[in-house]
Amino acid sequence: MKITIIAGARPNFIKIAPIIKAIEKQQSEGKTISYRLVHTGQHYDKNLSDTFFEELNIPHPNANLEVKSGSQAEQTGAIMVAFEKELTQNPCDLVLVVGDVNSTMACAIVAKKMNIKVAHVEAGIRSGDMTMPEEINRIVTDSITDYFFTTSKSASENLLKNGVDSSNVHFVGNVMIDTLHQNLNRISAPSFWDEFDLETGNYIILTLHRPSNVDEEKSLINLLEGIDKMVGDKKIIFPIHPRTKAILGETNLNLKNILFVEPQGYLNFMYLIKNSFAVITDSGGISEETTVLGIPCFTMRTTTERPETIEIGTNNLVGISIENLTLEFTKFLENGLSKRGIPELWDGKASERIIAILLTK
Ligand code: UDP
Repeated sequence: MKITIIAGARPNFIKIAPIIKAIEKQQSEGKTISYRLVHTGQHYDKNLSDTFFEELNIPHPNANLEVKSGSQAEQTGAIMVAFEKELTQNPCDLVLVVGDVNSTMACAIVAKKMNIKVAHVEAGIRSGDMTMPEEINRIVTDSITDYFFTTSKSASENLLKNGVDSSNVHFVGNVMIDTLHQNLNRISAPSFWDEFDLETGNYIILTLHRPSNVDEEKSLINLLEGIDKMVGDKKIIFPIHPRTKAILGETNLNLKNILFVEPQGYLNFMYLIKNSFAVITDSGGISEETTVLGIPCFTMRTTTERPETIEIGTNNLVGISIENLTLEFTKFLENGLSKRGIPELWDGKASERIIAILLTK
């Protein structure tokens, strides 16, 4: 079986790393399976791309479509045009897409129109929020996917409710957690650890990059100032996403606790998360990692496509207002964590299950 694997953005790189390892393991055991890795170039900053290839030992991509930034339509269109050429020159039996970024949807459409089977890893998750570009990507991708690999039973149920044939839905667990398991013994403190006087449990990690939190400069500043006040004397490490940085520009902020740093590589970032007091974020992937590590997480969104992180894990969905975040954070300071469970099959073996299933197709 010849598989073309698509990766375009930071969370994709983290998800494909263990899938490639699982393929290589099957190859070493004599199975007839090969892959071609296509980087669409959706994320191209060193901090968001190259660093992850180096740290997670992901092979150099066989092709880079170099689409770079653009509006939703420009980026999706550019990926489709470039990937159609790539797939015509390098045919395969299956295109494997992960997650919910524009590359996921664009490459799934191209493959399906060329009568090539599509596998979607992290299929079936739904926030119900159609203002999120990711939600549209999820729905469109799942409407043309052949083999669905899900992270939770609720994601499988979403697909079955939409009429997907149950024989094509496979609840396998979470590939992002495979990467976490494979790298926990390699994580290391960033160079600023001593400089900022960080100690286990004495700081908070903040990440914000969703349009609903960062696209409006005034409310972003209001949010940052509110968070800065809310945490007392705890330091806040804020690896600032390029999108958020572009909005803030040169604005002078009056912040006492928030320390801005560059987006972190995976190994430094996971060290920072694992040793933090708590995390405030609008990332979906980070709320999965904090769930597995048992770190309190406050998700600044009104919906989630990952309900298990809230029902079982340490995640709290707090909305996007500073008032509600402060309320929930204060409750946590008073009462501590109320739950700390790990979702079913988030055990580090999802990628092996996926490849074993694909080999039967
Ligand atoms: N991440 C990282 N460095 C950072 C911020 C995030 O390595 O400075 C990792 C994080 O641990 C998670 C992934 O990037 O594995 C999540 O990416 P992002 O928040 O961009 O995407 P989302 O999960 O919201 O789709």
